[in-house]
Amino acid sequence: MSTADSLNPITEPSNTFAQRLDAVRARIDRACAAAGRDAAEVTLLPVSKTFDADVIREAVGLGLNRFGENRLQEIAQKAPLLEDCNIQWVVIGHVQTNKAKEVAKYATELQSLDRLALAQALDQRLKAAGRTLDVLVQLKTSPEESKFGLDPAELIGFLETLSGFETLRVKGLMTMAILSDDQTAVRACFKKLRHCRDEAARLDIKGISLERLSMGMSGDLELGIAEGSTEVRVGSALFGKR
Ligand SMILES: *Cc1c(COP(=O)(O)O)cnc(C)c1O
Repeated sequence: MSTADSLNPITEPSNTFAQRLDAVRARIDRACAAAGRDAAEVTLLPVSKTFDADVIREAVGLGLNRFGENRLQEIAQKAPLLEDCNIQWVVIGHVQTNKAKEVAKYATELQSLDRLALAQALDQRLKAAGRTLDVLVQLKTSPEESKFGLDPAELIGFLETLSGFETLRVKGLMTMAILSDDQTAVRACFKKLRHCRDEAARLDIKGISLERLSMGMSGDLELGIAEGSTEVRVGSALFGKR
């Protein structure tokens, strides 16, 4: 990823946030054009993790209002400082089961649902809060120990179980590609997510939508878009190095 970044003028720290946002949108547009896709099919999710409330406020000033974060504790710190901004917090990182209450309190969406115990804990907390939650199921598409996600072989059974949870509205799948300079290996992870989605979608499981594919980040969004991504999660290319 650092290789891609160093080749890419958008990560120049001298650029303003507005310039980096324009550059990321231009990358998305180019990738869509190259893939013969309509750029309106691909949503940009700015990932603001590790950046403070003032930086997020600047991004809000440019029209962004949905932000990805990977730690509940960080959302809990920033949300009160940005109450006037009407932000939709999207949880994209691994969630411990004992953090389900915070997800129900702060998140509009969770992209990292990867196991039944978390689904059960969320269902209980969401019922108590009288609300529903949009979720993406995170699949583990690379062999790295450090990566979270459901084993793709368990996807269909998991979706059938989730179809019984009225509080959880499944909208699609998410993955993180292998951390590698080998574009073929990265692309294979995205290809796998799309295949898993296509297979599962064929079963037409009640109440389950699989329209969304969240895949692609600062270093690999072009590959994600080439494989059918509907949402790229972009941190460093927008906010700078962490
Ligand atoms: C941090 C993070 C991103 C953004 O990564 P960048 O390389 O900074 O764009 C995307 N998805 C997840 C799950 C993350 O944790």
